Amino acid sequence: MTTPDPGAAARSAILTVDDDPGVSRAVARDLRQRYGGQHRIVRAESGAAALDALKELRMRGDEVAVILADYRMPQMNGIEFLEKAIEIYPAARRVLLTAYADTNAAIEAINVVDLDYYLLKPWDPPEEKLYPVIDAQLEGWQAEDHTAVHVTKVIGHRWSARCTEVREFLARNQVAYRWYASDEPDGQRLLGVAGADGRTLPVIITPDGEAMVAPSDADLAGKVGLSTTPAEDFYDLVVVGGGPAGLGAAVYGASEGLRTVLVERMATGGQAGQSSRIENYLGFPDGVSGAQLTTRAQRQAHKFGAEVLTTREVCGLEVCGSARRVRFTDGNTLDAHTVILATGVSYRQLNAPGLADLAGAGVYYGSALTEASACIGQDVYIVGGANSAGQAAVYLSRHAKSVTLLVRGKDLEHSMSYYLIQQIAGIPQISVRTCTEIVAAQGDGHLEQLTLRDTASGGTDTVAAQLLFVFIGAAPLTGWLDGVVQRDGRGFVIAGPDLAVTGQRPAGWDLDRAPYHLETSVPGVFVAGDARAESAKRVASAVGEGAMAVMLVHRYLEKL
Ligand SMILES: Cc1cc2nc3c(=O)[nH]c(=O)nc-3n(C[C@H](O)[C@H](O)[C@H](O)COP(=O)(O)OP(=O)(O)OC[C@H]3O[C@@H](n4cnc5c(N)ncnc54)[C@H](O)[C@@H]3O)c2cc1C
Repeated sequence: MTTPDPGAAARSAILTVDDDPGVSRAVARDLRQRYGGQHRIVRAESGAAALDALKELRMRGDEVAVILADYRMPQMNGIEFLEKAIEIYPAARRVLLTAYADTNAAIEAINVVDLDYYLLKPWDPPEEKLYPVIDAQLEGWQAEDHTAVHVTKVIGHRWSARCTEVREFLARNQVAYRWYASDEPDGQRLLGVAGADGRTLPVIITPDGEAMVAPSDADLAGKVGLSTTPAEDFYDLVVVGGGPAGLGAAVYGASEGLRTVLVERMATGGQAGQSSRIENYLGFPDGVSGAQLTTRAQRQAHKFGAEVLTTREVCGLEVCGSARRVRFTDGNTLDAHTVILATGVSYRQLNAPGLADLAGAGVYYGSALTEASACIGQDVYIVGGANSAGQAAVYLSRHAKSVTLLVRGKDLEHSMSYYLIQQIAGIPQISVRTCTEIVAAQGDGHLEQLTLRDTASGGTDTVAAQLLFVFIGAAPLTGWLDGVVQRDGRGFVIAGPDLAVTGQRPAGWDLDRAPYHLETSVPGVFVAGDARAESAKRVASAVGEGAMAVMLVHRYLEKL
């Protein structure tokens, strides 16, 4: 096979296959002469080689406009080849090149492989015999919509928890992907070309055409161009957590000349990255989606030279002389002069029989954005009475048939911002059920029913439900700081003046000054954002604390 021209990635291909090398070259030469400018000409000398070439093109997301196959080929004749080629490129126009003696076989192929044309050999002069045929096929093909897909492809099952996680991971890392259901023809075709049986999902095909079966987040991150390993051994500042506080710290740290690395266990953006519309962040009078804010912040961090590592979870913090060491779950470590903890909070899980088994299969924690398309025409339930639940209800009401907000309290006024309550009241698809809790969930492989209890009357009823989104508050994930950094009873990190409520310095504190405002009980380790005890739990305050922590890092480094 001739090697395709790499610069022609976005051009649709014309593939020609003939077992006679001389004929194969001649056909390709004639095709290239007329179509080489607009199309990639791919040549093969056997049915098997041509199928391999088609698979490679398919994996890369390229389009094939016309397939021109010789009828008489050993091992696999032209009709047998086209039968297999249809499975890979069903929309490609199919032309059979035959000798006069094989006309009957060609006519038969019109039914077998839905042949578009049979061309009699010799095709000379091409201006008269070949080009008019190919022109007509290209014209017909171009009249249909063939948008080449040069993005990561995810083939999976709608109700698979891991497939949901992978989509969420890609979306939150701003990696463009296209989703294919494994039980639909396009998905099955892609599984076939990837050589996967579909029993283990998801299957990922990268834009370069590499297939991966059920990869880990770290493997996936590496293949889709996300950075996972630090470039240096030692930094001025390690920021743990890539939400607004961490991104704020990375931007200010790097822009002020600190060698800064940000370590994020999953995807940057944190909770804010999951918000469909943040309306109260200064400077965005029309609101901004969490994804937009995250993309811009990440670009800004890169612009100033901050390193951003994803899929790396920090699970330990140690003091090693004047260095602060963070330990990753894979055992590796990273040292720095200072650390900013910006690990935020994570969603609490809802406890009711049946819910745990259905997580990712109709029951989602905060993933309203990635599942929006699944809500089209569905009756959707949302649990929670705070702003995050309200935002999700407003957002999903654009797609769903109905959205029911299940609230434990008597009203929304105690837990949700006034502007959101007003918005919700103005959307007819949204209804609010107060004094309601979920007592059970049922479903075979995915959510089918919810049992709801009216806490005022004690009565229960069962409703059909395919999708449930849970937003019931969050807890800090700071267990790994146990014994190193002081935390309050709920796990939030205590900092600055809050450490000295009794007028005493923190235990083990050996400096002759009190901890700075956002400094924890370990000198040189700071905390910013939602993970801090008594923090405001807002995007603006998280970003502000990230910036302020950097200012305190400078102060700490000056006195080191
Ligand atoms: C749906 C939703 C809507 C919201 N809407 C608004 C709004 O409109 N206005 C507003 O002001 N606020 C809003 N908030 C609140 C706001 O998003 C948070 O206050 C803000 O994101 C807190 O930022 P943070 O950086 O402190 O923490 P987070 O956003 O929680 O980010 C923490 C990050 O640290 C990472 N991490 C945690 N542990 C580790 C570890 N051990 N190693 C590496 N990484 C780790 C996490 O994966 C996460 O990415 C909303 C929250 C949600 C969930």
